[in-house]
Amino acid sequence: MTNYDYIVIGAGSAGCVVANRLTEDSDTTVLLLEAGNPDTKSEIHIPAQCLSLLGSEVDWAYFSQSEPYLNNRKIFCPRGKVLGGSSSINIMIYLRGNAHDYDHWQSLGNPGWSYLDVLPYFKKSEHFSRGASEFHGVDGELSVTDLIAPAVVSQHFVDAAVELGYDHNPDPNGMQQSGAGLYQLTIKDGKRHSAAAAFLLPVFQRPNLTVTTGALVTRLLFEGTRTIGVEYLQKDMLHQVRVNSEVILSAGAFDSPKLLMLSGIGDAEHLQTLGIPVVADLPGVGQNLQDHPVVSVAHEATQDLDTASSSSVAEAGLFLQTPGNLDAAPDLQFLFGPVVLAPPGYAHSGLGFTSFVCLTHPQNIGRLCGIRLALVKWALTQWQWSILSCGYMGLRDCELLMLPSCPRSPREIRTHPPS
Ligand SMILES: Cc1cc2nc3c(=O)[nH]c(=O)nc-3n(C[C@H](O)[C@H](O)[C@H](O)COP(=O)(O)OP(=O)(O)OC[C@H]3O[C@@H](n4cnc5c(N)ncnc54)[C@H](O)[C@@H]3O)c2cc1C
Repeated sequence: MTNYDYIVIGAGSAGCVVANRLTEDSDTTVLLLEAGNPDTKSEIHIPAQCLSLLGSEVDWAYFSQSEPYLNNRKIFCPRGKVLGGSSSINIMIYLRGNAHDYDHWQSLGNPGWSYLDVLPYFKKSEHFSRGASEFHGVDGELSVTDLIAPAVVSQHFVDAAVELGYDHNPDPNGMQQSGAGLYQLTIKDGKRHSAAAAFLLPVFQRPNLTVTTGALVTRLLFEGTRTIGVEYLQKDMLHQVRVNSEVILSAGAFDSPKLLMLSGIGDAEHLQTLGIPVVADLPGVGQNLQDHPVVSVAHEATQDLDTASSSSVAEAGLFLQTPGNLDAAPDLQFLFGPVVLAPPGYAHSGLGFTSFVCLTHPQNIGRLCGIRLALVKWALTQWQWSILSCGYMGLRDCELLMLPSCPRSPREIRTHPPS
């Protein structure tokens, strides 16, 4: 069996960075295993075509279970299945998250997670087109740029929000997140700058880095409760590799807990009902998955607008607090883009624009945050597992009601005439 010092599972946003940093030491050997294929699909690299990737072969294209609070609809949950992972199919907005959220995570007992702790790493990884500052870096691998040619309607969105009393915020990754402004994007020379393009491609030739694509990791291997390697499936063949030091599980928010459960780490009772031998009884595995629901409202333009997008589907945005929110962090995010994003089956023609409303702090009924990953099928052989079913527990009514009850609703901003 081949040995590596580290095995990294999943070449997504996290896995590409980890593989890059670990192989800086030429004495350290790293195997990076990715279920998807290399990122050769041309649409990956053309920012304006990012929506065409959803549901394609580079998307795991998960669906939730029927959502009782959403009229039992199954909600589409895209996830990248390709080198670069979701960073190869996402809409490229560069947003770090709110500083208060990091501080909150630290206060829950996670030393090293305060915003002041993580800020140096954001700066280290970034090449910001506006130059270095207290909040930005220029020496990093990831290109972060302003929009080169924002659509006129995107600027109108920002102007209208400001006229309605919101702060103009030219940098949501800077001193404060609240306010309206044009977004920064992870684009380089007009092309998507995914984690693979930024962190993997430049170090691909390192002799101590092995990148294996089309390799679906099926389980972790153990001696007792110690991980000693992984098993993966490639071209219908099962392989096993051993690790000297650590296995890094970076397969994403859905697949990391799934893989733990398939390996026998999870709620013992649940695993036993699935016939999975228990290695460690950890009931928290698969729980507390928080996703931010987005509602979009599309408009066809009634006048000749310059809505051609050369960048992404969302060019502008606004962070704000709903009335009664006493937290330091905004709980709503609006996004605005110069494309008509209509659901399948809704005919539309011509140009237009779409606004999106997004909850930044979703809460779920009866649980702290709640999504439970449930394995609904355990097939005959260990590697033939197939179905991951992620069941959203349902969003609290008030969360969805909160959206239209917001005093400065997206509709008000959209209908506010530019001066
Ligand atoms: C449509 C969409 C739009 C988004 N837009 C934005 C945005 O504009 N800005 C932003 O900041 N964030 C955005 N996000 C979120 C962001 O892309 C993700 O949070 C981030 O990429 C997650 O990184 P990750 O490393 O945890 O997982 P991923 O990047 O998803 O990587 C996980 C990798 O593991 C691989 N994998 C999974 N299971 C296995 C297995 N068993 N064996 C081997 N490999 C496996 C997957 O194929 C994948 O490549 C968006 C996400 C999506 C889906």
